[in-house]
Amino acid sequence: MSRADLLLACQWWVGREGPPEKPGRAAVFGTAVHAAVANGFLGLRSNESPEAEERAGAIRSALLDYFREEGWEGKLLIERSVAVLPSSRLPGRFISAPDAAHVYLDALPGELPGTVDLAVDGKDLLVLDHKTGKLPAEGGQLKSLAVALARPEHGRIVVGYVHAPWGKKVRIHPAEASREELAEHRWRLALALAGVGIAGPTPGEHCKALYCPARFSCPVGPDKYV
Ligand code: SF4
Repeated sequence: MSRADLLLACQWWVGREGPPEKPGRAAVFGTAVHAAVANGFLGLRSNESPEAEERAGAIRSALLDYFREEGWEGKLLIERSVAVLPSSRLPGRFISAPDAAHVYLDALPGELPGTVDLAVDGKDLLVLDHKTGKLPAEGGQLKSLAVALARPEHGRIVVGYVHAPWGKKVRIHPAEASREELAEHRWRLALALAGVGIAGPTPGEHCKALYCPARFSCPVGPDKYV
Protein backbone atom coordinates (compact mmCIF):
# COMPACT_ATOMS: atom_id res chain seq x y z
CA MET A 1 0.00 0.00 0.00
CA SER A 2 2.97 2.31 0.36
CA ARG A 3 3.10 2.17 -3.45
CA ALA A 4 -0.64 2.69 -3.96
CA ASP A 5 -0.12 6.02 -5.76
CA LEU A 6 2.36 4.40 -8.16
CA LEU A 7 -0.02 1.48 -8.72
CA LEU A 8 -2.81 3.92 -9.61
CA ALA A 9 -0.53 5.72 -12.09
CA CYS A 10 1.02 2.64 -13.75
CA GLN A 11 0.68 -1.11 -13.30
CA TRP A 12 3.48 -2.42 -15.53
CA TRP A 13 6.10 -2.46 -12.75
CA VAL A 14 4.19 -4.90 -10.49
CA GLY A 15 6.04 -8.22 -10.50
CA ARG A 16 9.01 -6.60 -12.29
CA GLU A 17 10.45 -4.81 -9.28
CA GLY A 18 13.94 -6.33 -9.45
CA PRO A 19 16.20 -6.82 -6.43
CA PRO A 20 15.40 -4.59 -3.45
CA GLU A 21 17.55 -1.48 -3.28
CA LYS A 22 19.83 -1.05 -0.28
CA PRO A 23 17.98 1.31 2.05
CA GLY A 24 19.64 4.69 2.60
CA ARG A 25 20.34 6.21 6.01
CA ALA A 26 17.00 8.03 6.11
CA ALA A 27 15.09 4.79 5.45
CA VAL A 28 17.07 2.88 8.10
CA PHE A 29 16.40 5.64 10.61
CA GLY A 30 12.69 5.73 9.74
CA THR A 31 12.39 1.95 10.19
CA ALA A 32 14.13 2.14 13.58
CA VAL A 33 11.75 4.91 14.72
CA HIS A 34 8.72 2.87 13.60
CA ALA A 35 9.97 -0.13 15.62
CA ALA A 36 10.69 2.01 18.68
CA VAL A 37 7.21 3.65 18.54
CA ALA A 38 5.53 0.24 18.26
CA ASN A 39 7.62 -1.27 21.06
CA GLY A 40 6.83 1.68 23.30
CA PHE A 41 3.08 1.25 22.83
CA LEU A 42 3.37 -2.51 23.35
CA GLY A 43 5.45 -2.03 26.52
CA LEU A 44 8.40 -3.94 25.02
CA ARG A 45 12.05 -3.19 25.48
CA SER A 46 13.54 -1.77 22.33
CA ASN A 47 17.09 -2.12 21.05
CA GLU A 48 16.93 0.79 18.67
CA SER A 49 19.50 3.56 18.53
CA PRO A 50 19.30 6.39 21.12
CA GLU A 51 18.33 8.80 18.30
CA ALA A 52 15.47 6.55 17.18
CA GLU A 53 14.31 6.09 20.79
CA GLU A 54 14.34 9.84 21.33
CA ARG A 55 12.27 10.52 18.19
CA ALA A 56 9.91 7.66 19.04
CA GLY A 57 9.40 9.10 22.54
CA ALA A 58 8.44 12.47 21.02
CA ILE A 59 6.01 10.74 18.63
CA ARG A 60 4.41 8.71 21.43
CA SER A 61 3.88 11.68 23.68
CA ALA A 62 2.42 13.78 20.80
CA LEU A 63 0.07 10.92 19.96
CA LEU A 64 -1.06 10.42 23.55
CA ASP A 65 -1.80 14.16 23.84
CA TYR A 66 -3.71 14.01 20.55
CA PHE A 67 -5.78 10.97 21.60
CA ARG A 68 -6.64 12.67 24.89
CA GLU A 69 -7.47 16.08 23.44
CA GLU A 70 -9.54 14.69 20.57
CA GLY A 71 -11.21 12.05 22.73
CA TRP A 72 -10.18 9.07 20.61
CA GLU A 73 -11.27 5.82 22.20
CA GLY A 74 -11.09 2.29 20.92
CA LYS A 75 -8.80 -0.62 20.26
CA LEU A 76 -5.28 0.46 19.35
CA LEU A 77 -4.02 -1.46 16.32
CA ILE A 78 -0.24 -1.28 16.07
CA GLU A 79 1.81 -2.46 13.09
CA ARG A 80 -0.93 -4.77 11.79
CA SER A 81 -0.69 -6.04 8.24
CA VAL A 82 -3.80 -5.96 6.16
CA ALA A 83 -4.72 -6.68 2.54
CA VAL A 84 -7.38 -4.97 0.43
CA LEU A 85 -9.52 -7.24 -1.66
CA PRO A 86 -10.80 -5.74 -4.90
CA SER A 87 -14.36 -6.63 -4.00
CA SER A 88 -17.07 -4.38 -2.69
CA ARG A 89 -18.27 -7.02 -0.24
CA LEU A 90 -14.97 -7.67 1.54
CA PRO A 91 -13.11 -4.49 2.47
CA GLY A 92 -9.98 -6.16 3.86
CA ARG A 93 -8.49 -8.90 5.97
CA PHE A 94 -5.65 -9.16 8.45
CA ILE A 95 -2.64 -11.05 7.16
CA SER A 96 0.75 -11.92 8.60
CA ALA A 97 3.57 -9.40 8.70
CA PRO A 98 6.02 -9.16 5.79
CA ASP A 99 9.23 -11.18 5.79
CA ALA A 100 12.72 -9.65 5.98
CA ALA A 101 12.55 -8.77 2.29
CA HIS A 102 9.27 -6.88 2.90
CA VAL A 103 7.26 -9.47 0.97
CA TYR A 104 3.78 -10.34 2.24
CA LEU A 105 3.88 -14.09 1.76
CA ASP A 106 0.22 -14.81 2.49
CA ALA A 107 -1.26 -12.06 0.32
CA LEU A 108 -3.32 -13.65 -2.43
CA PRO A 109 -3.04 -12.75 -6.11
CA GLY A 110 -5.02 -9.59 -6.76
CA GLU A 111 -4.77 -8.38 -3.15
CA LEU A 112 -3.01 -5.21 -2.16
CA PRO A 113 -1.10 -5.76 1.11
CA GLY A 114 0.30 -3.23 3.55
CA THR A 115 0.91 -2.46 7.20
CA VAL A 116 -0.91 0.09 9.27
CA ASP A 117 1.45 1.90 11.66
CA LEU A 118 -1.26 2.83 14.12
CA ALA A 119 -5.05 2.89 14.12
CA VAL A 120 -7.74 3.48 16.72
CA ASP A 121 -10.69 1.24 15.96
CA GLY A 122 -13.75 2.23 17.96
CA LYS A 123 -17.00 4.07 17.34
CA ASP A 124 -14.95 6.05 14.82
CA LEU A 125 -11.85 4.95 12.91
CA LEU A 126 -8.51 6.77 13.01
CA VAL A 127 -5.70 5.58 10.72
CA LEU A 128 -2.23 7.07 11.15
CA ASP A 129 1.08 6.66 9.35
CA HIS A 130 4.42 7.84 10.79
CA LYS A 131 6.72 9.79 8.53
CA THR A 132 10.22 10.94 9.50
CA GLY A 133 11.06 12.43 6.10
CA LYS A 134 9.04 14.42 3.56
CA LEU A 135 5.27 14.09 3.57
CA PRO A 136 3.91 12.43 0.39
CA ALA A 137 2.05 14.69 -2.03
CA GLU A 138 -0.68 12.09 -2.62
CA GLY A 139 -2.56 10.14 0.05
CA GLY A 140 -3.02 6.77 -1.68
CA GLN A 141 -1.35 4.75 1.07
CA LEU A 142 -3.53 6.19 3.85
CA LYS A 143 -6.72 5.91 1.81
CA SER A 144 -5.92 2.28 0.96
CA LEU A 145 -5.40 1.46 4.64
CA ALA A 146 -8.69 3.20 5.46
CA VAL A 147 -10.48 1.21 2.73
CA ALA A 148 -9.11 -2.00 4.30
CA LEU A 149 -10.01 -1.10 7.89
CA ALA A 150 -13.28 0.82 7.52
CA ARG A 151 -16.49 -0.95 8.51
CA PRO A 152 -20.09 0.24 7.99
CA GLU A 153 -20.51 0.74 11.75
CA HIS A 154 -17.73 3.33 11.98
CA GLY A 155 -18.98 6.89 12.33
CA ARG A 156 -16.17 9.22 11.29
CA ILE A 157 -13.16 7.95 9.38
CA VAL A 158 -10.05 10.07 9.91
CA VAL A 159 -6.68 9.47 8.27
CA GLY A 160 -3.45 11.32 8.94
CA TYR A 161 0.30 11.52 9.03
CA VAL A 162 2.34 11.76 12.20
CA HIS A 163 5.17 13.89 10.86
CA ALA A 164 8.38 13.79 12.87
CA PRO A 165 11.36 14.98 10.83
CA TRP A 166 14.63 14.98 12.76
CA GLY A 167 15.04 17.94 15.10
CA LYS A 168 11.55 19.34 14.52
CA LYS A 169 8.39 19.24 16.58
CA VAL A 170 6.08 16.28 15.93
CA ARG A 171 2.94 17.33 14.09
CA ILE A 172 -0.17 15.32 13.38
CA HIS A 173 -2.02 16.13 10.14
CA PRO A 174 -5.48 14.57 10.35
CA ALA A 175 -8.17 14.78 7.64
CA GLU A 176 -11.63 13.31 7.56
CA ALA A 177 -12.15 10.82 4.71
CA SER A 178 -15.69 10.69 3.38
CA ARG A 179 -17.36 7.42 2.45
CA GLU A 180 -17.67 8.72 -1.12
CA GLU A 181 -13.94 9.47 -1.30
CA LEU A 182 -13.07 5.99 -0.01
CA ALA A 183 -15.56 4.32 -2.35
CA GLU A 184 -13.99 6.15 -5.28
CA HIS A 185 -10.51 5.16 -4.10
CA ARG A 186 -11.61 1.54 -3.75
CA TRP A 187 -12.93 1.61 -7.32
CA ARG A 188 -9.68 3.10 -8.66
CA LEU A 189 -7.67 0.44 -6.77
CA ALA A 190 -9.85 -2.33 -8.17
CA LEU A 191 -9.33 -1.00 -11.71
CA ALA A 192 -5.56 -0.72 -11.17
CA LEU A 193 -5.33 -4.22 -9.70
CA ALA A 194 -7.27 -5.55 -12.68
CA GLY A 195 -4.62 -4.00 -14.95
CA VAL A 196 -1.69 -5.81 -13.29
CA GLY A 197 -0.05 -8.15 -15.79
CA ILE A 198 -2.10 -6.68 -18.66
CA ALA A 199 -1.49 -2.94 -18.84
CA GLY A 200 1.56 -1.52 -20.59
CA PRO A 201 3.90 1.04 -19.01
CA THR A 202 2.37 4.46 -18.37
CA PRO A 203 5.24 6.92 -18.04
CA GLY A 204 4.99 10.25 -16.27
CA GLU A 205 6.42 12.32 -13.43
CA HIS A 206 5.55 9.45 -11.08
CA CYS A 207 8.34 7.24 -12.57
CA LYS A 208 10.97 9.28 -10.75
CA ALA A 209 8.93 11.09 -8.14
CA LEU A 210 7.52 7.85 -6.70
CA TYR A 211 10.75 5.82 -7.14
CA CYS A 212 9.33 3.17 -9.45
CA PRO A 213 11.08 -0.08 -8.49
CA ALA A 214 11.20 -1.17 -12.17
CA ARG A 215 12.59 2.11 -13.49
CA PHE A 216 15.91 0.58 -14.57
CA SER A 217 14.31 -2.17 -16.67
CA CYS A 218 11.28 -0.27 -17.96
CA PRO A 219 11.38 0.29 -21.74
CA VAL A 220 9.81 3.78 -21.61
CA GLY A 221 10.65 5.44 -18.32
CA PRO A 222 11.81 7.36 -16.48
CA ASP A 223 14.78 8.67 -18.50
CA LYS A 224 13.34 7.66 -21.88
CA TYR A 225 10.09 9.52 -21.38
CA VAL A 226 9.83 13.24 -22.20
S1 SF4 B 1 9.28 3.58 -14.98
FE1 SF4 B 1 7.29 4.60 -15.17
S2 SF4 B 1 6.33 3.75 -16.98
FE2 SF4 B 1 7.98 2.38 -16.36
S3 SF4 B 1 7.01 0.86 -15.07
FE3 SF4 B 1 7.79 2.46 -13.73
S4 SF4 B 1 6.09 3.87 -13.46
FE4 SF4 B 1 5.59 2.58 -15.21
